[in-house]
Amino acid sequence: MRSVLYLAAFFGVFSHLKAAEPQTDKPPTARPNILFIFSDDHTWQAISCYGEKRQLIQTPNIDRLAAEGMKFTRCLVPNSICAPSRAVVLTGKYSHLNGVYRNGQPFDGSQTTFPKLLQQAGYQTALIGKWHLASNPTGFDYWEILPGQGLYYNPPMIRMGQPVQHQGYVTDIITDLSIEWLKKRDRSKPFLLMCQHKAPHRRWEPPLRHLGWDGDRPYPEPDTLFDDYGNGRGLAWRDQDMSLEKTFDQWDAKLIPPSDLNPEQRKLWDAYYEPRNAKFRAANLQGKDLVRWRYQRYMHDYLGCIKGIDESVGRLLRFLDEEGLAENTVVVYSSDQGFFLGEHGWFDKRWILEPSLRTPLLVRWPAVVKPGTQCDKIVSVLDFAQTFLDIAGLPQPPEMQGRSFLPLLRGQTPPDWRTSFYYHYYEYPQPHRVRPHYGVVTERYKLVHFYWPDVDQWELYDLAADPEETKNFIDDPAYTKVVEELREELRRLQQQYKVPPLDQTPPTAYGPLPKTKPKGKTP
Ligand code: CA
Repeated sequence: MRSVLYLAAFFGVFSHLKAAEPQTDKPPTARPNILFIFSDDHTWQAISCYGEKRQLIQTPNIDRLAAEGMKFTRCLVPNSICAPSRAVVLTGKYSHLNGVYRNGQPFDGSQTTFPKLLQQAGYQTALIGKWHLASNPTGFDYWEILPGQGLYYNPPMIRMGQPVQHQGYVTDIITDLSIEWLKKRDRSKPFLLMCQHKAPHRRWEPPLRHLGWDGDRPYPEPDTLFDDYGNGRGLAWRDQDMSLEKTFDQWDAKLIPPSDLNPEQRKLWDAYYEPRNAKFRAANLQGKDLVRWRYQRYMHDYLGCIKGIDESVGRLLRFLDEEGLAENTVVVYSSDQGFFLGEHGWFDKRWILEPSLRTPLLVRWPAVVKPGTQCDKIVSVLDFAQTFLDIAGLPQPPEMQGRSFLPLLRGQTPPDWRTSFYYHYYEYPQPHRVRPHYGVVTERYKLVHFYWPDVDQWELYDLAADPEETKNFIDDPAYTKVVEELREELRRLQQQYKVPPLDQTPPTAYGPLPKTKPKGKTP
């Protein structure tokens, strides 16, 4: 007991002395701070600086990062789904090596992650918001996470293992907590703050202040809203369960309100939705008209969530400005994957297709990145861990499988920068019955194999000839040589990334239901 008292007294004196020291906002070393803003399912089509032709929304604060930094147009994810993508970010490894193939599999927090390495090197580390890895965070001095998927309104959270109840809207709360942590941080150390939003994940429930934000304007429909899944495309396309037509439910449509609203919030909710829902019910829409109505409702809600995210980014950037931190802080905005905003008639993600394979990536770092620049090289969330270590001047563990894109941030492209990318999606059949597939992606082509459990179909997409990805060119004789080259490249990538043969993939990778081994051969 005496030694405990002694220690307490010692630390009390020590912290008193420290508090008496002059506080500065600049870390004592050149090591920059890292603010990683990571949203969930925020696709690039819903960020104005990406210039998608529908012009769905203006995101002035996120766009500020592009204007003051670098916009990556081709940041790809190795496995387009939430928890697996988060495990890739932390470890710099593909799913088959980090162990999280699908949602619901607990992340093994004893693995080497970049936050741990930054922490060991003297960074103060914090994670606030969505975690979704079914185990407690490791490598953070401070963490406060949503349990599981979390709630949009009045969310409970877990702060360093203890339950906490919040009131308000989740994006605002995560932003408040992030700013509070920044204010309280140890200013003698550089920081890593991972501010991870729940929004705009399904069921894309907007901040109540933004209900009706769009003045009921109609959104342009994507060209493929009524895709017929023809042109040689296989069963995987026709038999998915993620369409506005068949899958979009009463809660998605806001015909049933969420249960986490308090009575005052519910009044605001009903004031917006009820008159519109009454009109909808009276119209008794069917077929394509019903799909069109659902698409409009989906865009209002999803993009309303994005408005909340954009405001959050604005608040964080203002805070950095006010604190004099902007110069020495690398600000990264990204998301765990892209998302379908009606393309092919879908919501959700999972596919090797452009809307879900590509994710936003914007990086501002005044000391290094030239403002207003764009990089079209293939980078990936797989590269984040090594890039952050490189930015901090730390060595990169050789078992990590990405590559630091710090040279790209400096405006230099290494001559051997990747020109192809390996993709592998597993989760099946729940919840959206998207067939497991893997493939190789280049600037122009994608060669894909849907292989399990009842399909064995190869498909080739050509982004130059068919940017909407509505044709399978695999049997077109004009592409014979391309297919041969891509098969060879696929083999090379599988070897490079130590991908096990398909029949050695554990059945638990796919989901709890199927028990049989996958069909089909590696190329
Ligand atoms: Ca996600």
